[in-house]
Amino acid sequence: MARSDLPADRVEFLDDLACDVWGEFCGDRPTSVHAIASQLKLGPSYDDFGTDFDGILEHRSGRFHIYCNTADGKHSHHPRVRFTLAHELGHYFIDEHRNALRAGQPPKPSFPDRPGDDPIEHEANAFAAALLMPKSEFREALKSVPAGLKGILELGSTFGVSKQSAALRYANASGRECAIVMFRNGSPPWWEISPLLERTGLNRIKALKDSIPPDSATGMALADAPNQACELRTTNTLASLWFAGVPNGSQRDIVFRESAVRLGSFGVLALLEPHQR
Ligand SMILES: [Zn+2]
Repeated sequence: MARSDLPADRVEFLDDLACDVWGEFCGDRPTSVHAIASQLKLGPSYDDFGTDFDGILEHRSGRFHIYCNTADGKHSHHPRVRFTLAHELGHYFIDEHRNALRAGQPPKPSFPDRPGDDPIEHEANAFAAALLMPKSEFREALKSVPAGLKGILELGSTFGVSKQSAALRYANASGRECAIVMFRNGSPPWWEISPLLERTGLNRIKALKDSIPPDSATGMALADAPNQACELRTTNTLASLWFAGVPNGSQRDIVFRESAVRLGSFGVLALLEPHQR
């Protein structure tokens, strides 16, 4: 499934909004989402809330407050908690979300990793990614890391986000032709295709079940043990193996560079980039 399906103009609006917030309240890398929430007197409060929510923005008596779940021993600067806090800041800064709460709508528990079909959750996620990795900062940082997947993994540390978040941001903000596919243990893969690549007509990843060759970068990464240090591998592949609507051997069946690495128990992250056109 595609990771997000928000209209392009809405994504651009959220990018700009997050960039303005970053410029006004932070202006530094990595984004201190805690400091932003503190400046706005939104808390935040951290505690073990079990499985109730990852984050929630409450409105009571004219005041807003953010709660973040630190269950499973996560600390407040854990990438997942930082993303949750940025997501809740999205609910605060996006007018429609904040006004609904102010008007008395009950707060909704957030699970940023599982946004489902709810556009509100996708909007808060888009805001969070843009706040933690402002587009101009992200593109600047890209210049000083190795190309491809290795660089993406480094950017996760630079911005204090997960490798999956950095990869997703790479797909939608790097200005390059690429696709990201994340193979998760026990769940269907999610994917994101960069706007530039989508414009060439490669706009959907096809069902991949059982079609990954074992000697491909992804096939080898899938075979890696989750509990060991894993190697990043690169092989060549064809568009027809990954993208829907591309007949094998057709003119559009171009060669892609396929890089993949296992991210422990989370699954396998793959990056597809066209070979020099
Ligand atoms: Zn939410």
